Amino acid sequence: MKRPNSVRTQFLSAHDVAEIVAKMGLAQVLRGMADYIEADFLRWSDFDKCARVASHSAGGVIELMPISDAKTYAFKYVNGHPKNTLLGLPTVMAFGVLADVDTGVPHLLSELTLTTALRTAAMSAVAARALARAASRCMALIGNGAQSEFQALAFHHLLGIEELRLFDTDRSATAKLVRNLRHTPLRLIVCQSVAHAVRGSDIVTTVTADKTHATILTPGLIQPGMHINGVGGDCPGKTELHADVLRGASVFVEYEPQTRIEGDLQQMPGDFPVTELWQVLAGRAPGRIAPSQVTLFDSVGFALEDYSALRYMDDAARELGVGRPLSLIPELTQPKDLFSLVRPAFKDLSLAA
Ligand code: NAD
Repeated sequence: MKRPNSVRTQFLSAHDVAEIVAKMGLAQVLRGMADYIEADFLRWSDFDKCARVASHSAGGVIELMPISDAKTYAFKYVNGHPKNTLLGLPTVMAFGVLADVDTGVPHLLSELTLTTALRTAAMSAVAARALARAASRCMALIGNGAQSEFQALAFHHLLGIEELRLFDTDRSATAKLVRNLRHTPLRLIVCQSVAHAVRGSDIVTTVTADKTHATILTPGLIQPGMHINGVGGDCPGKTELHADVLRGASVFVEYEPQTRIEGDLQQMPGDFPVTELWQVLAGRAPGRIAPSQVTLFDSVGFALEDYSALRYMDDAARELGVGRPLSLIPELTQPKDLFSLVRPAFKDLSLAA
């Protein structure tokens, strides 16, 4: 990762990340990213962690997500504006940086819009591998927008999901998903309601976008043994699950201080019991303990997942020769002579004066 004595920043555009996916294959990228996330979650105590810094407005939120270990600092800029699609813009857009802790040199600047969808799907699969019943083959996918195909494919490749039951209030979003995934082995069933989609599913993924306290899932829809992957409730004032769904489940989170503010957990009292997922992955806390247990991953997206995703893309880009150097930080012959950058123009101006 480290490039000593160089201020060079490598740049990865959205096209570069798409090229990495094309060259490696989506299944391998999802698997690789899941491995990087798992490896970093197992080093939980190495990281300096904090809840993200959020700037709220009427239509959405802009967030900064920093994290570091002793060697590498990472941050992500990300927004969430549910009405953006009406303006022809994505709901979620992001970019991020990896920097060297010893020197502060930002050695990677990367797009994170596509990468966020990949890492969120990989993270959901990591959680479900630890929490869902091993024989899960059918998943309801509520919300068929930008994130949905990535969720579908992560659960197909990493968990063996074979059947998807789809629902979105916007039928054209579901039609788009069906078009995008029709060449995969997944059986795609378009449903008329949330209840129709959830019926008979082993796993339920909710990935809707609306800046409101929605109740996409109500307790009557939940069957014993289900695993719920709640992805869309990720910001204050934006939830997807009825509070009784949380009461009836064992709830797992990424980083508890952040999820208490942003997750569906925001509806619950401060002492409502939850387990951080890293503890399950490390064998320090139980995950699923009975086939009839309802498990819930209250996903909000934590900075460590972006650290892992940036690390993965950095390594993949290097291996495949993708990306290009960016002149972001000035390269100076003498580091104290920053003025050398403007000296020529300054001289010209003095001559002209
Ligand atoms: P998107 O706008 O592209 O898609 C959201 C879809 O949800 C739309 O098709 C919309 O019609 C549908 N929807 C809204 N209300 C619904 C309802 N009541 N029932 C069924 N469908 C409904 O957004 P996206 O990029 O796919 O993101 C979806 C959500 O996931 C957003 O809230 C986003 O903030 C969140 N997200 C979370 C993480 C995480 O790590 N947890 C990461 C990325 C995105």
